[in-house]
Amino acid sequence: MTEPHSSEAGARRSRLVVLAGPTAVGKGTVAAAVRETHPEVWISVSATTRRPRPGEENGVHYWFVSEAEFDRMVAEDELLEWAVVHKAARYGTPRRPVEAALAAGRPAMLEIDLQGARQVRGTMPEALFVFLKPPSWEELVRRLVGRGTETEEERTRRLVTAREELAAEPEFDVTIVNHEVHAAAEQLVTLMTVGEERPSLRPDQP
Ligand code: 5GP
Repeated sequence: MTEPHSSEAGARRSRLVVLAGPTAVGKGTVAAAVRETHPEVWISVSATTRRPRPGEENGVHYWFVSEAEFDRMVAEDELLEWAVVHKAARYGTPRRPVEAALAAGRPAMLEIDLQGARQVRGTMPEALFVFLKPPSWEELVRRLVGRGTETEEERTRRLVTAREELAAEPEFDVTIVNHEVHAAAEQLVTLMTVGEERPSLRPDQP
């Protein structure tokens, strides 16, 4: 269920949604579900210095760039925001495609980490900031372990980060609890595609 943090959130008109949340909450999976079922939604492709994982394609999942190329993008102010994520690699949002999508009137979405969301809050405060939350801490741990792509040391580091990231929820306009990926994706699209009127959002509990 979506939970508005203020009545103001329901009145915002921006077509740009910034989706953030703790590590392993399923932001990428929810974004992929939106991409699959709602081609009308434009989803930003980030640049990153990390290596592609098996099955990841350049220009689809990320723009995989060298450290030097990332330096150039930063120097030439080509990124709307960027951050070092998990102390491992740099990730950033190319600015121009976002501006073009918004100028074309398309609902647009960024799926980025918390540090990046805070930067966008500074430069594009009219965006709608959505926090994706796990149903429980235990579920988040289960998802992180279940993914099986990180080493033990890396998992521990990510769990420490996740605890800090969960505490950021009040900074966001709306929370979506990721009980089930397609339901979360639909809630997100509803927030994005409503034109003049946003739906009246009600919290799970009074
Ligand atoms: P992964 O390496 O697992 O694909 O992503 C790691 C983290 O990087 C995720 O939390 C994701 O939200 C974040 N991320 C992906 N793209 C960007 C970006 O453009 N900017 C920022 N700040 N974070 C990003």
